[in-house]
Amino acid sequence: MLKKILKFGGTSVGSIERIQHVAKIIKKEFESGNKIIVVVSAMSGKTNELISLSKEISENFDRRELDVLLSSGEQVACALLAGALIEINIKAKSWMNWQAPILTDGDNNNARIINVSTGQINKFLKEGVAIIPGFQGISKNGDITTIGRGGSDASAVALAKIFNTDTCEIYTDVDGVYSSDPNKIPVAKKIAKISYDEMLELSSLGAKVMQSSAVQTAMMYNIPLEVKSTFTNRVGTKIFDQQNIDYSKSVTGVAYSKDDAKITLVGVQDKPGVAANIFEPLNKAQINVDMVIQNISSNAKKTDISFTIKRDDLEKTIKILDTNKEINYQNLLHNDKVSKVSIVGAGMVSTPGVTYRMFRGLAEEKINILAISTSEIKLSVIIDEDNTLKAVKKLHTIFELD
Ligand code: ADP
Ligand code: ASP
Ligand code: MG
Repeated sequence: MLKKILKFGGTSVGSIERIQHVAKIIKKEFESGNKIIVVVSAMSGKTNELISLSKEISENFDRRELDVLLSSGEQVACALLAGALIEINIKAKSWMNWQAPILTDGDNNNARIINVSTGQINKFLKEGVAIIPGFQGISKNGDITTIGRGGSDASAVALAKIFNTDTCEIYTDVDGVYSSDPNKIPVAKKIAKISYDEMLELSSLGAKVMQSSAVQTAMMYNIPLEVKSTFTNRVGTKIFDQQNIDYSKSVTGVAYSKDDAKITLVGVQDKPGVAANIFEPLNKAQINVDMVIQNISSNAKKTDISFTIKRDDLEKTIKILDTNKEINYQNLLHNDKVSKVSIVGAGMVSTPGVTYRMFRGLAEEKINILAISTSEIKLSVIIDEDNTLKAVKKLHTIFELD
């Protein structure tokens, strides 16, 4: 007998038929003698729909009330799934964020789960299936909170830790983690096993199959994860620590995201303190700067500085650069039609020539590189958004992932 977390994402519970199908998966697990805690997302599209409604009222909708609104999506899915289980004679009960309660720390829209009362839920597991909403909790003040988009993955991992379960199984609409998004790159291959480090890079760089903070928590507490399909019985992907993995390839996967924007400040003074003057106010405004490039100045007095930020922060950033008296430049250029394409692989460190092969491949496709950043196990470039899929496909082929 195992104690399991089964997490079902939005597409998996996207219609009544799908909820009934999920109920059958859970029934089988429960009748095999396992203790089951189910974590559920809102039905697919629901969270986006609720966000759109809030924007009809205001672009700056109150953050506390936004969490009240958004948390309702998961409440609906929990009740429908519990009802579907009861209908097929499985005892099931849902606990809302305040009933469990799921305690969180941090700000509205960006909280993090710190504890869940386990007593009554653990007791119930002997007789039935517990259903818990993903993506949310309550603060110490009793306010409803949410934990960031895609956060049901993080809820599943937090509950796996808190309830000390034997497994944490992430059921989704693909049958595992692939070398690239299988819905966009049909030749992508399923990865049988992947390390936390690589999965964390892939998730942070755009592979939304696992939410990055969920992977981070799993890595921190060494909680093995399994990503598998709700719709097929194929074997999924295991995510765990590095020791059990054989790195025969230098690159494990290619990820991309279209969340970035690039800013160039033309004609800034080339002297100590200038970069600090630019980035300090951005940091104060909680604007995360990712890649930075400073050109070598041609006339020894003026240079250009380019950097990337989240696309959502573009307006705020331009405003700061425009109005802050400490920041001086001749011209400000911005481009929000860029994408970030990244190769990730723990085998990269020990394979020479990965960088060169990436740049040569992009050059062959006549793709211009606008910015570059590297770490031990990843290499990212910023390119024009229109070239995204062309670049991903090329890199996928070059690094023998097809
Ligand atoms: P859920 O609603 O179950 O949480 P998500 O939509 O968040 O599911 O994540 C699953 C999606 O992630 C897939 O449909 C797929 O398009 C996308 N995806 C992006 N990169 C990858 C990858 N490397 N491997 C698998 N899926 C990926
Ligand atoms: N429903 C939330 C979202 O769409 C959480 C999740 O699906 O994981 O972001
Ligand atoms: Mg998801």
